[in-house]
Amino acid sequence: MVILRTIKQASDFINTCKSKNKVIGFVPTMGALHEGHFSLVRKAFKECDIVITSIFINPAQFSKNEDLSKYPRDFNKDKKELEELKVNAIFVPNETAIYPKGYLTYVTVDGMSNILCGVTRPTHFRGVATVVTKLFNIIKPDFAYFGEKDFQQTVIIKKLVRDLNFDINIKTVSIVREKSMLALSSRNVYLSDREREDAPAIYKSLKIAKEEFVKGEVSSSILVNIIKNNISNYKTLKIDYVSIVDSDTLTPVETATKHSRILIACYCGATRLIDNISLK
Ligand code: AMP
Repeated sequence: MVILRTIKQASDFINTCKSKNKVIGFVPTMGALHEGHFSLVRKAFKECDIVITSIFINPAQFSKNEDLSKYPRDFNKDKKELEELKVNAIFVPNETAIYPKGYLTYVTVDGMSNILCGVTRPTHFRGVATVVTKLFNIIKPDFAYFGEKDFQQTVIIKKLVRDLNFDINIKTVSIVREKSMLALSSRNVYLSDREREDAPAIYKSLKIAKEEFVKGEVSSSILVNIIKNNISNYKTLKIDYVSIVDSDTLTPVETATKHSRILIACYCGATRLIDNISLK
């Protein structure tokens, strides 16, 4: 496994792969890797000859009051685990390689970036879209892999790829969960024992709403209230938003269909967790 620290090293590696007609799969991450990330890598290996993972904690997607400085980091552990998965290269740029002094250009997917998670995190998706655009230009992958855990992000990236004519096939991977059904997240390490007990109720509430949908309840407001009522039983949980949206456009729907998805963001103590469920 090669460690690529500069854009030049990455370009040289990629040019060599391309000259051998290798199909390149790319898995962007912020490190602190877990089974969710590894599922993306495994899917990439099924479809690609070469798999490149990036580890870059992107400051542009954190606002000033967020957890950039305390975001979990363990490069040696990440490296060892990626090596075991036989990842071909890790791209680990430093901040100035991505945002050199005087950097001014940002990418915004209008309309999709200021809704749902974008209400509480108004600059988040601008940061995500910008770094993903830059990483796509550097790595030039054939396929790129994103987790459905960050469902709004997957929709925004698919739109970005279409709108900016990237010749990249975006693949999404189902959410990997703990036994408790809590979605795996690098941020779960912030949870206290007490909070960990409550956190699985986030997904359980989504499941209860889905069961009601399957039984015939299609009113979004009723389904949302079922979730709110259920979450209100847990002391450490506080909903940021819960919304039922069209899976392609993220537009809120009054009447839920099989093409809808329920998206939720919920504070568990001080930690903001997200999750979602398809109504298919
Ligand atoms: P992050 O390091 O949190 O930026 O995540 C990197 C990628 O891993 C993103 O595409 C995430 O959606 C994906 N990911 C994170 N957690 C999970 C999970 N529990 N299941 C599936 N994919 C995930």
